[in-house]
Amino acid sequence: MGLSATFRCFRGCDGSYPLTQAIYRCPKCDGLLTVAHDMAALAETSGEEWRRLFDRRWSATSPSGVWSKREWIAPEVPEEAIVTTGEGMTPLVSSARAAGPVRRLASELGFGELLIKQCGTTHTGSFKDLGMTVLVSVVNHAVRSGALDVRAIACASTGDTSAALAAYGAAAGLPVVVLLPRGMVSVGQLVQPLSHGARVLALETDFDGCMRVVRELAARGLVYLANSMNPLRIEGQKTVAIEIAQQLGWQAPDWIVIPSGNLGNAAALWAGFSMARDLGVIDRLPRLCIAQAENANPMYLAFQAGVRGEVPAVVARPTQASAIRIGNPVSAPRAMAALEAMGGVVEQASETELADACARADRSGLYADPHTGVAIACAKKLRARGTIGAAERVVVVSTASALKFTEFKLGYHERTLPDIDAALANAPIPLPADVDEVAKHLV
Ligand SMILES: *Cc1c(COP(=O)(O)O)cnc(C)c1O
Ligand SMILES: [Zn+2]
Repeated sequence: MGLSATFRCFRGCDGSYPLTQAIYRCPKCDGLLTVAHDMAALAETSGEEWRRLFDRRWSATSPSGVWSKREWIAPEVPEEAIVTTGEGMTPLVSSARAAGPVRRLASELGFGELLIKQCGTTHTGSFKDLGMTVLVSVVNHAVRSGALDVRAIACASTGDTSAALAAYGAAAGLPVVVLLPRGMVSVGQLVQPLSHGARVLALETDFDGCMRVVRELAARGLVYLANSMNPLRIEGQKTVAIEIAQQLGWQAPDWIVIPSGNLGNAAALWAGFSMARDLGVIDRLPRLCIAQAENANPMYLAFQAGVRGEVPAVVARPTQASAIRIGNPVSAPRAMAALEAMGGVVEQASETELADACARADRSGLYADPHTGVAIACAKKLRARGTIGAAERVVVVSTASALKFTEFKLGYHERTLPDIDAALANAPIPLPADVDEVAKHLV
């Protein structure tokens, strides 16, 4: 088929650069880059043929959901360079299932159909695996073929990016350095890069401060940059959109709701759905809701103020949704374009709202991390306001496993979290080991 993909300027400047080059900004305008595919070559295969091919590959023996779409992602990476942990092909759990864990939640919140895309049920417990398999595979290929010489792959992280990079780097045998804001990631997330042997640098700053440092290290050529400014990440993450359409029988939902910090994932959903539409695999785009924590809401503030260009940075305050505590989102220009193309809106959730959404979801049988809580709380508001209609089909992207956020869960149930009114707290009841005493407390 002769498929190919290159880096191009997101704003459309001339010039294209091989995916094996260490380049993160357009050399002409300093703007973001994007991965451009040879769409004419891809369009030689019909929508119906793509659907059949992807359905055939969705099987128990498929090594990876991401690489089962490889022609649309990074077609020139050879099989032997691919670094995979079996990412993707995660469940899409629907409220239409009578005894499923979304049923009660959906009816409490008044949704016609609510579905949760469980991106946290993956190797390192967050959707970051989807982008990292692509980035590390491309770097692995570039290093093996002599196109690239890297001392280390590096990222700034609110926790999950560093966990994924450390795992994939270890699998490939490539050195990894992660920059974390000291004391601001969960214990579960901190332990992951330590275990995988990454060099963990805990900086006296917040995520935005870590991002500034790692960008400068990359600009000086000291490290290869693995943050989602690097569009290779977006290529893998866009398979979430393609998988959702596939799991709905090659239909777009009416709405897609995504908890957002650096806004790479919002851009990835747009990239995935629009590629599927442009290649005749689906017939329309869903509407997009970017869900932010009220304590880290630069995109929300910009959207409310009618800003459609540059998003003013804010200082992000502490939030239980620590992975989206970002005040200066790198992919804001991509996300603005996504909102425009997808009839999008931006909503926000307070600490109590996100915690309440998690508690309700958990009582329905899900186990929601605080970021998924932000998305559910925002979807709830849009439904209550009528922006989301009663008969519409809504997909909430769950971005991580709640097992990484035990301090949050325990704090909620013990009512020790600041600024959170834990209405559904369920603390353990201490009792003597006495049958009559215990019998009094059964319900
Ligand atoms: C990284 C992350 C996000 C935010 O994704 P962006 O692409 O930065 O907007 C949301 N939730 C979790 C759990 C994450 O790890
Ligand atoms: Zn440019």
